[in-house]
Amino acid sequence: MKFHPVLLLLLVTTGLAQPREVGPFTVHPIIPGVMRIEDANRSNPAGIQRDAQGAVTGFNNCSDMYLLVGRERALLIDLSNAIKWDDSAVASLQSLVGEAIGARKLHIAITHYHGDHTGMLPAFRDNPAVTFWIQTDEFKGREIFPPERTVPIGGDSSLDLGGGFVVEALKIPGHTDHSTAYFLRGKNLVFTGDGLGSGNGVWIFSAEGFAQYRRTVDRLITHIRTPANGIDESRLVIFGGHHWQKREKEKLTMQYLLDMQKLIADIKAGTAREERVTFGPYLNTNFISGEATITWNKADAEKFRAE
Ligand SMILES: [Zn+2]
Repeated sequence: MKFHPVLLLLLVTTGLAQPREVGPFTVHPIIPGVMRIEDANRSNPAGIQRDAQGAVTGFNNCSDMYLLVGRERALLIDLSNAIKWDDSAVASLQSLVGEAIGARKLHIAITHYHGDHTGMLPAFRDNPAVTFWIQTDEFKGREIFPPERTVPIGGDSSLDLGGGFVVEALKIPGHTDHSTAYFLRGKNLVFTGDGLGSGNGVWIFSAEGFAQYRRTVDRLITHIRTPANGIDESRLVIFGGHHWQKREKEKLTMQYLLDMQKLIADIKAGTAREERVTFGPYLNTNFISGEATITWNKADAEKFRAE
């Protein structure tokens, strides 16, 4: 059977764009050499699960790992939830990463310390070939990485994966004290964990966290608009740590960040749209402007207004 060249190209390119399941994970290609790996599959899909009548039957707050494969090295950003619902999780992750990176050296970076982004560490912790590129301040008092194979990021730093893939780490505190974003230089992609939220709302756990977050949003916008950083803001795509939470938004873009900046000004002015929520005793209010939501605390927001 002979394929028309255009049809063949179509088959190859659509093949590239198709999600693929490996055990409990689903691999979503982003661009050649960059993929999103979600700890969800058709048997346990992302987010709130419903039956045919619409009744809630389950929930998978899956998170995302991002694998960046350069010419010489590869970087895996984040390690998802610790999967208990599929016995093949460790072996599946090892094999899918191994298949994608071949003989390249593997580095692992983490956006922040929360357990839903470090859960699959057992798949790589004891592998002597793996190096951890870690914002060590984030893990003070909760050291989980093998010290002899941990390279501290130390402020802002970069990692050259070869073949034009350079990853730049930039601190984005607020959600946690040392949350870190990873820009893939020249590709207009940034991986932010929970540092900016994933569309549903960035969770801010204290007044100090909010003060940090205000500075983070301003600093990120400045970073993106500094020509030397080589970012085309009209093409920038932000990949959060819980991709499914972006809901109906097609993708998170520069507009999301600009809306965050406006939202912070609106909170200060008392004009932000507010929605009462109950994510525990502290996280009681969603503040909303445009595409941006900050999940925070009503009383601390009032104090911020009065400052
Ligand atoms: Zn988090």
